[in-house]
Amino acid sequence: MARRNVRRCSQCGMELPKGSRRSRRYCGAACRTRAWRQMRARRAAIDAGGEALRAVLEGRRHPWPRFLCPECGSTWYSSDTPFGKTKRSDSQYCSPRCRTRAWRKRSRSAGVTV
Ligand SMILES: [Zn+2]
Ligand SMILES: [Zn+2]
Repeated sequence: MARRNVRRCSQCGMELPKGSRRSRRYCGAACRTRAWRQMRARRAAIDAGGEALRAVLEGRRHPWPRFLCPECGSTWYSSDTPFGKTKRSDSQYCSPRCRTRAWRKRSRSAGVTV
């Protein structure tokens, strides 16, 4: 396979448009966000140590489960629940923002003024 001087998104491997700045690493905001999330998860794994850290260092998949955020529909790895720890009941959302939004929606439908 001919390897031309083509640069790819560090996240999804898609070719970056020709003439992109050298500092550019991702094809778009979605990949940048995902990379940031992974970075955060990696940091949590380093804090957690043990099996979680080993998995990250070896490039294996994150040992903790993937969640689907019911609010925005994106999938995410819980960086708040390092391997072996009990997950909180509110950890199904990708971010505190989504959690708050869902909570507001719930209280509104229950007729509670926030
Ligand atoms: Zn990408
Ligand atoms: Zn979300």
